[in-house]
Amino acid sequence: MIDNYGRKINYLRVSVTERCNLNCTYCGADCEKGARELTSEQIEKIVRIFASFGIDKVRLTGGEPLVRDDICDIAERISRIDGIKKLAITTNGIYLDRYASELKKAGVTAVNISLDTTDRELFRQITGYDGLQKVMNGIEECEKVGLSPIRLNSVLIRGQNEQSAESLINIARDRNIDVRFIELMPFSDAGEDEKLVIRGEEILERFPFLRPVKAEGTDFEKSVARYYEGDGFRGRIGLITPVSDKFCSECNRIRLLSDGSIKPCLGNDEVFDLTDVLDNEELLRERIRTAILSKPMEHGFSCGYGHSHGLNKIGG
Ligand code: SAM
Repeated sequence: MIDNYGRKINYLRVSVTERCNLNCTYCGADCEKGARELTSEQIEKIVRIFASFGIDKVRLTGGEPLVRDDICDIAERISRIDGIKKLAITTNGIYLDRYASELKKAGVTAVNISLDTTDRELFRQITGYDGLQKVMNGIEECEKVGLSPIRLNSVLIRGQNEQSAESLINIARDRNIDVRFIELMPFSDAGEDEKLVIRGEEILERFPFLRPVKAEGTDFEKSVARYYEGDGFRGRIGLITPVSDKFCSECNRIRLLSDGSIKPCLGNDEVFDLTDVLDNEELLRERIRTAILSKPMEHGFSCGYGHSHGLNKIGG
């Protein structure tokens, strides 16, 4: 489906819960409390309609998607829907060693794992949990069962974990894993202080051996990340720069939140509640179509959007 600004919307991010088993300092408050959550049947029903509108790629996210006991059931239901060509998941990795194999069987192919440091104590300080080893085990399990691509997503914050950039980059040097640095966005007060944001350009200045990967004809062409590589690297380094260089004109995504609403843009307040029309296929289709067509031209971070919600609520 083409939106009002000529963008082809083919990528749906499905947040299955607001709950999270970590409590990252810069993310969102109150990760234990969750609002109402759609059931796996309701998620399937909604994604089926999205697929009929041209969505062919789905990413499961949260909150932390792996805190839902029925996450593999959700994955299986989505991967069986006609038109869905790719199913991926974004997770903090704490439960991945337990779930990687089952997720693969359920039709998940690609996995993004959030990891801001390889230092055990710093990991504990950022997330509130001494879980670095669990995440590392989870990454290994993904490699073992053949989930691909495996990407690590890192948010660098000045004065907190900027020194972790090098060891994270070394993971991409040594393993077939992409490491992507995401600029800190102004959610939930975090990132409000622009001085804390480590911009993509700074990373390139600090690691001058990184050179752009030619994107034409590859999967990376459509990515929001710009990719770089170093001599002998097995994986790539990605820079995702929503703050310093917005990519709204390329945005092909839309979000289904766990409470049953659609959020057309990460950086805009408007949501479309679906819960009152879940039992009426025709109205549900109409509401979804309206939501897609309401996607704004660009996000509003610079206009003060975002400060009141954490990404756990919005669906990161
Ligand atoms: N629990 C899953 C995970 O950890 O990947 C999915 C949800 S989490 C909110 C998704 C991503 O959002 C994580 O990589 C996290 O680092 C990122 N994130 C959270 N708050 C952010 C912020 N203020 N700016 C940029 N990224 C943020």
